[in-house]
Amino acid sequence: MRTEEIVVVGAGQAGGEAVAALRMAGFEGGVTLVGDEPHLPYSRPPLSKDFLLGDVGTEVLLLRPPHFYEKHRVRTLLGRTVTKLDRDRRTITLDDGGSLTYGTLILATGGHARRLRDPMAEAAPNVHYVRTIADIERLRPELVPGARLAVIGGGYVGLEIAAVGRKLGLEVTVVEAAPRLLARVAGPDISAFVHRVHTEEGVDIRLGTTVTGFVPGDNGRVTAAVLADGTTVGADVVVVGIGLVPRDQLAADAGLDVADGIVVDEFCRTGDEAIYAIGDCTRHPCAEHGGMRRLESVQNASEQARVAAAAITDDPRAYAAVPWFWSDQYDLKLRSVGIAADYDQTVVRGSLDEGRSAAVFYLKAGRVRAAEVVSSPRDFGAAKKLVAHRAEVAPERLADLGTPLKDLLTSR
Ligand SMILES: Cc1cc2nc3c(=O)[nH]c(=O)nc-3n(C[C@H](O)[C@H](O)[C@H](O)COP(=O)(O)OP(=O)(O)OC[C@H]3O[C@@H](n4cnc5c(N)ncnc54)[C@H](O)[C@@H]3O)c2cc1C
Repeated sequence: MRTEEIVVVGAGQAGGEAVAALRMAGFEGGVTLVGDEPHLPYSRPPLSKDFLLGDVGTEVLLLRPPHFYEKHRVRTLLGRTVTKLDRDRRTITLDDGGSLTYGTLILATGGHARRLRDPMAEAAPNVHYVRTIADIERLRPELVPGARLAVIGGGYVGLEIAAVGRKLGLEVTVVEAAPRLLARVAGPDISAFVHRVHTEEGVDIRLGTTVTGFVPGDNGRVTAAVLADGTTVGADVVVVGIGLVPRDQLAADAGLDVADGIVVDEFCRTGDEAIYAIGDCTRHPCAEHGGMRRLESVQNASEQARVAAAAITDDPRAYAAVPWFWSDQYDLKLRSVGIAADYDQTVVRGSLDEGRSAAVFYLKAGRVRAAEVVSSPRDFGAAKKLVAHRAEVAPERLADLGTPLKDLLTSR
């Protein structure tokens, strides 16, 4: 087992889990965690949910309490940006001019919220992005009852913000360029389900159109978004949720292989044997469908952290976990497992046209490859197993609410 210093760049979900996994795996050498935010590793999902609502404080977001890092001898350097990676000298440079030498380096740099390329929006104090605690602390005071909220982007984050907006009594409009909500991450049936629920909750949804500009107001603020279809959306506050750009520049500048994410193998190794990369910043082999894929989820960040720690501590095991994801909107608990990319049949369980609970299964050659489950934790637990086993099931039993899903597991 290596005992020389391990440096982790990025103190987010993946970086935080990596330092813990290294200690769990028995690594005894020095561990340093460098992060440019002022916080210890924290969980981002509540940022667009409970934390934005003001229901939970910052301390609840922390992955682990401060004493964990002391107890496990993890040196934390927070509020420090790594500006350069010198692979020959195995050294990283910090923005305060300092440097650190590593035996093994783990890049866990996550990503930036994708920006609108609009100078007025860039400068406007009422146009917001949601990636960090600081972003939410800027946004929250603007979410006052009766204000008009324009959400640009109908993906998970945008829709969670829309749900919080409605809960807080704002008038909410969602603008989505694709012809349906959640187009990148869910199948058409769940898109339609979610569309219905948001409409029932009073959200004005504009699909198939983009924002082409903004109407200026006082103090550099914008007062409306101008859409490509010629309409405008009045706005006191704008939230942009149009995806993530991986922070892979450090790796690219150091000559590592980068392709919209740092390219790693199934052990999270880059092309440099001393450097690993994990989390949102990576592009990695997809065990499910082959090819390379970038995933943005807590499950992926945490699993890659464990995979990298195992490889570093000479107990390599390839990343083979089935991806899963969750999103909370109003009372809906949306859960997905597997990647609904390659299927020849969908099976709906429950009704998509009414109510708040349903599931959609994606099958290939009669075997379950992916599932999206709304507000049924028990069905989701079973769906995970059906997907993991690629269970062969009779579609009519899958669709039958009278057949518990767990029975399909045992009758395989
Ligand atoms: C609002 C929101 C809601 C979400 N909801 C869900 C959800 O419901 N379910 C789910 O599964 N996932 C959700 N996600 C996604 C999930 O949070 C991410 O997939 C996860 O945080 C990725 O972890 P990471 O460590 O790779 O990246 P991050 O958590 O982004 O951490 C990377 C860290 O590295 C720092 N960093 C980058 N470059 C440097 C540098 N050069 N020097 C020093 N530090 C650096 C960054 O500032 C950041 O702190 C959500 C994300 C957001 C933003």
